[in-house]
Amino acid sequence: MNVLVINCGSSSLKYQLIDMKNEEVLAKGLVERIGIEGSRIKHTATGKDQVIIEDTIQDHRRGLELVLNALVDKEYGVIDSLEDIEAVGHRVVHGGEEFSDSVIIDDKVMEAIEACVELAPLHNPPNIIGIEACKELMPNVPMVAVFDTAFHQTIPAENYIYPLPYEYYEKYGIRKYGFHGTSHKYVTLKAAEMLGKSVEELNIITCHLGNGSSVCAIKGGKSVDTSMGFTPLEGLAMGTRCGDIDPAIIPFIMEKENLSFQEVNNLLNKKSGVLGISGLSSDFRDLEDAATNGDERAELALKVFCNRVKEYIGAYSAVLCNVDALVFTAGIGENSSTIREKICEGLECINIRLDIELNKVRGKEAIVSSEDSQVKVLVIPTNEELMIARDTVNLVRK
Ligand code: AMP
Repeated sequence: MNVLVINCGSSSLKYQLIDMKNEEVLAKGLVERIGIEGSRIKHTATGKDQVIIEDTIQDHRRGLELVLNALVDKEYGVIDSLEDIEAVGHRVVHGGEEFSDSVIIDDKVMEAIEACVELAPLHNPPNIIGIEACKELMPNVPMVAVFDTAFHQTIPAENYIYPLPYEYYEKYGIRKYGFHGTSHKYVTLKAAEMLGKSVEELNIITCHLGNGSSVCAIKGGKSVDTSMGFTPLEGLAMGTRCGDIDPAIIPFIMEKENLSFQEVNNLLNKKSGVLGISGLSSDFRDLEDAATNGDERAELALKVFCNRVKEYIGAYSAVLCNVDALVFTAGIGENSSTIREKICEGLECINIRLDIELNKVRGKEAIVSSEDSQVKVLVIPTNEELMIARDTVNLVRK
């Protein structure tokens, strides 16, 4: 079965066509600058060179139309006709409390996804637009929604309720939801495979460290706590997001700097994190280079980032008691041996010991802890698209 995986942002659309017989990616690409001047598609058929398709792409529907044309193109296409796409899997950021698993999309599901717009005003609307565009262009193809929040629906109330008046949870749904669920789930399944254990008996801490970052405590294969919260702003210090701060800082800055709600929201989401501390970049490669060349604020930003991750690992070790493994994934977690080393420094006290040589690995599955480390340390490249495609196949086959 060929599954098309779609991930729609406000002005972008990422796609992969996967042949699920052997989980092989046939083609993938990115539609950029939708509705903006200079829109284009970067399309790569596996084994061939990337092609850039420049066109006026006024909306997601047009973008998708061009993607489908590219997939059947004589020169750089990978299928004979659109009938070879048997199902579509959509990434949907917020499923609220409604969805604890992926679902086949029907009218009722669409209504529920729309009801979650209030909780994810930046993310759910483009996801909905992507689904609508697919429905129009492929009306007879079954579609599945895979939610970033679904994996965290097993978190118990004592970990998801904020110490605020309870009525705000009841009235507005203010609670911890957690994000990156598809990635935390993927690496959990992979970790079970690598450790030769069943998922149900697996206690692990997963660190998804990328542009956005989150840590998750997984007990018996299920998420029991995670660092992101009501929105993806809570938790770790990130590329541009502040993560946990004293909430009293917000009204203080608003008053001192005379900022509106929108301005302070922008400040906390786009100008904080390691970018805010370093004043230099949100990209960890730039920060590592700068720190090596003596930039003190870049070094401080990296220390703050690593300390936060370390604190969450400590907290989640207490939550889990017996930890089988610590997993690193996503752009930073998969690629930066230095960051992994800094995070694990001093964690011998909770039985985490890195092997400095093995830890030099980049971008591939590996066990990087030393022989005598009670907690195994794993590097696992995440694959959210494959996870979405797997869920899609399972539901469509049912
Ligand atoms: P992601 O959001 O998972 O795509 O991760 C993107 C982030 O990964 C980038 O902003 C970089 O900071 C980071 N990254 C990618 N490659 C490396 C690397 N080799 N070393 C350090 N950080 C990296």
